[in-house]
Amino acid sequence: MTPGSGKASEPSINNLACPVPEADSATLPASVCVFCGARFGADPGAREMAANLGELLAREGITLVYGGGGVGLMGVMANAALGAGGKVVGVIPSFLLKREAGHPALTQTLVVETMHQRKLEMFERSDAILVLPGGIGTLEEFFEVLSWRTLGLHAKPIVIVDTNGYWQPLSQLLHKVVEGGFAESSHLDHVAFVSDLEQLLPTIAAMPRGQISEKPLDRL
Ligand code: AMP
Repeated sequence: MTPGSGKASEPSINNLACPVPEADSATLPASVCVFCGARFGADPGAREMAANLGELLAREGITLVYGGGGVGLMGVMANAALGAGGKVVGVIPSFLLKREAGHPALTQTLVVETMHQRKLEMFERSDAILVLPGGIGTLEEFFEVLSWRTLGLHAKPIVIVDTNGYWQPLSQLLHKVVEGGFAESSHLDHVAFVSDLEQLLPTIAAMPRGQISEKPLDRL
């Protein structure tokens, strides 16, 4: 979302104001962290999007970092990336290994103790953050990295991969927060929405980054 990209009340998809350049290897992230549902969700389109994203990352040689589960969209995405020859790193707390069916065949699995350690590891091991459809856990993860960004604690692009409008209410809520005077409109520069995967890498390449000095998150 960028300033001047429309009225605050107008939700928008991929509302970058600047022209989207071609993504090339110099601007592509080496690794991305993906937050997504540990369930499949009601829309079969989300499952397809998760599989396509896994394949895209593998094809582009981008390491997938995610929550390490074998269930729901998480499992679909990881299996698709592995099936296409990609590198997949999972970060999972020991107490969730059973409930989220810790994936048995990832390139690397990190077993941590707490949810906070999981989020910090996932964050630190990736150059950009992506959000697929998901539930409460996905929302929590997204809002934490967005809040870190608004505090100037990092400068990593955050891209929401919308599927059939699933995340439109989130876009509306974010605009409402700005309209209500509880956030700067510039805070929305840090998050972009894309509705198909063709837009994803060019959008990441076009997003501002590196202007904020990264500060240690473990002081939070
Ligand atoms: P959900 O979107 O609810 O299906 O959850 C997606 C993923 O987020 C799952 O792997 C959850 O374990 C994870 N999750 C849920 N709450 C948190 C949290 N507070 N911190 C980190 N990960 C979480």
